[in-house]
Amino acid sequence: MSGSHFLFVPGPSNVPAAVQQAIHCPMEDHRNPTIPGLIQPLLEDLKKVLLTKNGKTIFFPSSGTGCWEAALQSTLNIGDKVLGASFGQFSMLWLDMCKRLQFEPIIMEEEWGTGANLENYHKHLSEDKNHSIKAVLVCQNETATGVKSDVLGVRKILDDLNHPALLMVDGVSSVASYEFRMDDWGVDCVVSGSQKGFMMPAGLGILGVSEKAIEAMKNSNYPTCYFDVADMIEKTSGGFLPYTPPVNLLRGFRVALDLIFEEGLENIWKRHYRLAEGTRKAITDGWGLELCAKEEKWYSDTVSAIVVPEGCDAVPVISTAFNKYNLALGAGLAKVAGKVFRIGHLGDLNECMLFGAISGAEMAMIDNGIKVEPGSGAAAASKYWTKNPVGDK
Ligand SMILES: *Cc1c(COP(=O)(O)O)cnc(C)c1O
Repeated sequence: MSGSHFLFVPGPSNVPAAVQQAIHCPMEDHRNPTIPGLIQPLLEDLKKVLLTKNGKTIFFPSSGTGCWEAALQSTLNIGDKVLGASFGQFSMLWLDMCKRLQFEPIIMEEEWGTGANLENYHKHLSEDKNHSIKAVLVCQNETATGVKSDVLGVRKILDDLNHPALLMVDGVSSVASYEFRMDDWGVDCVVSGSQKGFMMPAGLGILGVSEKAIEAMKNSNYPTCYFDVADMIEKTSGGFLPYTPPVNLLRGFRVALDLIFEEGLENIWKRHYRLAEGTRKAITDGWGLELCAKEEKWYSDTVSAIVVPEGCDAVPVISTAFNKYNLALGAGLAKVAGKVFRIGHLGDLNECMLFGAISGAEMAMIDNGIKVEPGSGAAAASKYWTKNPVGDK
């Protein structure tokens, strides 16, 4: 197909040319003496993205899911109770993993399109007088439904109740895109991955752990090997990994982090809000459609899930977009399969690129008989973006 491919799934996101070029380098000995000079600054700089001074950062040659596993196995014991809310494919899968790894998850089912319900966290934690809940899980950005949750709100509940459980956050599709503060929010484990806000190919699982989480590792008897976080911290402190690191990805990571610092974290957060808000205007004001996220407080700044009208199917919209317009949109997952399609708006992105996604999705809807006005999405986004030059709320 001629022209550019438009990649608008909520991860993998677009990889900037400079990062691609850095990755495209000859193989090298992963124990050569320049490696610590690559790895140690990466880990230090990663702290600046997670906003932690006291915590430790590591990465595994895995995707984000590997770090879900690493965080749980390294800090908990078999049979430990874990509290978490399930309101979409990813929040559900992390809790499902807890079951499969023989922890005992207490699963708070919430309606898809809503997020972490603080009242329910409060209820379970306040009833847990003997502190048998050892970890509290929050998915900061539910990528399946485009829903953001209030991590600080959960921290406050733990503090108010003086509850010692570890606070674990899935930040795979939020970290490096919108506000996340590891130290200020008292997060003990935060999981991310390279292929979303970090603007890299998939292949690096990213993990931040607090001093408290590191203490908990000493009391964990869960058998770990590849995903042993304490091992990884020890080995990387010397500048090497315990096994072959994906050096090319790490060379790309260097450039990706430099790009992040060049723009500035807060500017990145503002840009994501602004791009997301323009996209939402296209969806609601332009097309007259609804977001899967039920209320404004849940709106995600990295992905929008668009509900197709009753009686319509989102699946052919996605295939028309791909086959006819060279545009990759995100599919509806599990409960919302066929009911939504998703536009990812995270990473290396600007307004004009998003116009491509908005107009392409619009044409694919029209092709499939969904009644939206030609040009209405771009018009609504354009109106918003020209009137609001910076992404202040
Ligand atoms: C993408 C994603 C994951 C899974 O990450 P992988 O890198 O695919 O393993 C987990 N949680 C959320 C919120 C995600 O968006």
